[in-house]
Amino acid sequence: MPDSSSLSRRTLVKGMGALPLAAALGNSGIVRAQNRTKVIVIGAGLSGLNAALLLEEQGVDVQVLEGRQRVGGRVLSHRDVPGNPESGGTSFAPGYARLMDACKRFNVGTIDVTPIVPFFNDRELVLDGKLVPKDQWPTHPRNPFPAALRQSTPWSYLNPVIGKNNPLKTADAWLDPANAKYDVSLHQWLTSLGISEDVIELCWNTNPNFGTTAHDVSAMMVLFGATFAMMQAQLGGRTFGYTAVGGNQAIPEAMANGLKTPVRFGCNVTGIRSTSSGTEVHCADGAVHKADFVISSLPMTVLRRVHLDPLPTGLKGLAINTLASQPVNMLHLVIKKPFWEEDGRNPNIFSDGLAGMVVAERKGRTPKEITSLTIWVRGRNATWMDTLEPKDAIAAIMDDFYRVRPAAKGKVEPKAYHSWYRDQFSAGDWAVWAPGQVTAFAGEVGKPLGRIHFCGEHTAVSNRGMEGAMESGERAAFEVLGLV
Ligand SMILES: Cc1cc2nc3c(=O)[nH]c(=O)nc-3n(C[C@H](O)[C@H](O)[C@H](O)COP(=O)(O)OP(=O)(O)OC[C@H]3O[C@@H](n4cnc5c(N)ncnc54)[C@H](O)[C@@H]3O)c2cc1C
Repeated sequence: MPDSSSLSRRTLVKGMGALPLAAALGNSGIVRAQNRTKVIVIGAGLSGLNAALLLEEQGVDVQVLEGRQRVGGRVLSHRDVPGNPESGGTSFAPGYARLMDACKRFNVGTIDVTPIVPFFNDRELVLDGKLVPKDQWPTHPRNPFPAALRQSTPWSYLNPVIGKNNPLKTADAWLDPANAKYDVSLHQWLTSLGISEDVIELCWNTNPNFGTTAHDVSAMMVLFGATFAMMQAQLGGRTFGYTAVGGNQAIPEAMANGLKTPVRFGCNVTGIRSTSSGTEVHCADGAVHKADFVISSLPMTVLRRVHLDPLPTGLKGLAINTLASQPVNMLHLVIKKPFWEEDGRNPNIFSDGLAGMVVAERKGRTPKEITSLTIWVRGRNATWMDTLEPKDAIAAIMDDFYRVRPAAKGKVEPKAYHSWYRDQFSAGDWAVWAPGQVTAFAGEVGKPLGRIHFCGEHTAVSNRGMEGAMESGERAAFEVLGLV
């Protein structure tokens, strides 16, 4: 294998910014370790852990390298807040076969969240900083719905429209070239159905699940999500879904404990090289790890900061450098007193302000017990919040929340804040496919680059979220098993 220093300076400068260069080069003079394994898995999220477990089961020597000091990646439970609310992967359905199997295998208990769903769907509406009483909504000047549907709420209006018009019948149909015509902006697709600008603005752009507005997400991605949700609902029957006992992070923790070779923490990968005879993984602290093959689970927004040798070109290069991630920030509030008993309103809120979605967490003994509040900040608001330092972002969100719910002042306390975009190991939340990107390179994201293989939710074919991550880890493990 050629020495690290044989990388040409020109290639490196082209491939990455100046700061991590020395670390990626491995010529900083502090190459600390030369550990050789059969396979290195980068990232101890669900996808990487699933890949590592499957390989170990087949007798392959695997080392998982993780940049953080914890496992779970985008699954993050706050054990310092009552009820262990989630900042990441929130719930999973009975049809998440791989994840359910991992819970069973590693003795992680599950909690049926079906009884809390009706509470979750009931919310106060806040527009222009003011609460809109339910009985005033049908005649409210900002109600954009057609006459027969003016009782509809902004958070429930679009899903049936998307479901009714969804042409994708199977979960992998989003990759079928026959459906390429739906790889246009969600805005374009919705307007083609006669949905008005006002409806799109209120029902999608205010608290978007994908993208910052309906303009920067492909309708195909939304349709894939809808098909997946529909199939999960069919598989789940009367059960909506589960969370894990101790918080969902208990799942990746138990999976990591099931590994023979423990995860190595604090390995911030800055470079990956593949040659004809092996691979090198370079970390920010100067350590170099060697293996026959690498499986990278890094989201594209992170991977594009890592120096790859060979440089990814063509559609693979386009995918790594342009696939976006959802901006989402989470703020968890501890409750000192139930202020909603004072103002007589539901603690749940859907708002066009900064505190876009307030969710009363019901993780106590009965669904009626509210254990904490979670504020979701999404899309344009999250992008704006990310220009602020966390303490200023928290203050801005709380100001907005108190303006709407003055009774909450002194009765709640912000306890945990997480910006997924400002987190260097995520650089955003779930992958967001922009218009045209599905047809351009969805078939490429999971393909190997030399001896470097890829997993992660963004490479999943038939599943989304946590189950998509598990699916992708399985696929990458089988790819490598065929080679070792
Ligand atoms: C707010 C939110 C809500 C969600 N809700 C749901 C839900 O209800 N249901 C659902 O199914 N899914 C949900 N998801 C999505 C789900 O959590 C993710 O799709 C899934 O956990 C992704 O797993 P992964 O292994 O692909 O990636 P990750 O979990 O991101 O794993 C990648 C790993 O790589 C590590 N890493 C990154 N960079 C480096 C580096 N340079 N060097 C070394 N290590 C590195 C990271 O620390 C991480 O551990 C949600 C996510 C969020 C954030």
